[in-house]
Amino acid sequence: MMTLIEKAAQYIANAKQIVALTGAGISVESGIPPFRGKGGLWEKFDPMEYAHIDVFLKNPKKVWDVMLKEMKEIIQQAKPNNAHLGLAKLEQMGKLKTIITQNIDGLHQMAGNSDVIEFHGNFAWLRCLNCSHRCAMRDVNLDVIPPTCSCGGIYRPDCVFFGEMIPMEALTRSQSLSKNCDVMLVIGTSAVVQPAALMPMIAKDSGAKIIEINAEPTPLTYSVSDVALQGNASEIIIKLIDTLQPLV
Ligand code: NAD
Repeated sequence: MMTLIEKAAQYIANAKQIVALTGAGISVESGIPPFRGKGGLWEKFDPMEYAHIDVFLKNPKKVWDVMLKEMKEIIQQAKPNNAHLGLAKLEQMGKLKTIITQNIDGLHQMAGNSDVIEFHGNFAWLRCLNCSHRCAMRDVNLDVIPPTCSCGGIYRPDCVFFGEMIPMEALTRSQSLSKNCDVMLVIGTSAVVQPAALMPMIAKDSGAKIIEINAEPTPLTYSVSDVALQGNASEIIIKLIDTLQPLV
């Protein structure tokens, strides 16, 4: 009898178009807490109080002070872990072309993947609410909060808050890739944030096999996923690549 890892490796070996959808869980082993699940930020912050655009616009100082300042410190220190590096290896092996990520930490690009769709933008950049000037998060001084542009406008992170639209190109490319893939790897996402959570449904409806990797079961696990591998993303991805290598 095939193990679940062997079954997943076989799907990957046979596939021509593989897409990965990743979420906060893939970066947990890099020291970035997820929103939901064990140790998630939601145990500390109420999402509607801090991560909604209306709240930010009403009180940017509070959101910078409580949530964004800490996120900047954590994300700036983070390095790709073996799960990110494993996906870069899959690209080198010719088995993965594009990653759709909900993450804003830039770790897939740092690991070496060349085509990363940032569904929710990137925390590495700030944008002025007044003149739209962009500046690198790394270059901004948070001694005074909220940080301001030389025009006097307040800087916001250039990522998508709850209540905002997904960048159109990211959305349309993700939908098209989901429709045309034959395997989707769904890694470290609670699969409840829309519209990102629709991508595995689109892929499944178009005939793709769904391989899910997560520390806990999700709404996809017993309905949409063809193989659900439960555990830490880095350990599972290493095992998966070891099992895949003799098959390709
Ligand atoms: P989520 O926080 O809702 O869920 C995280 C998921 O990861 C959970 O299902 C959990 O079981 C799983 N998980 C935790 N540790 C894991 C591990 N070591 N290996 C495998 N799985 C693990 O994340 P989401 O679905 O991405 O949605 C939250 C939103 O929050 C995203 O849209 C994203 O923009 C944002 N976010 C991003 C980051 C980041 O950039 N690293 C961090 C926190 C939140």
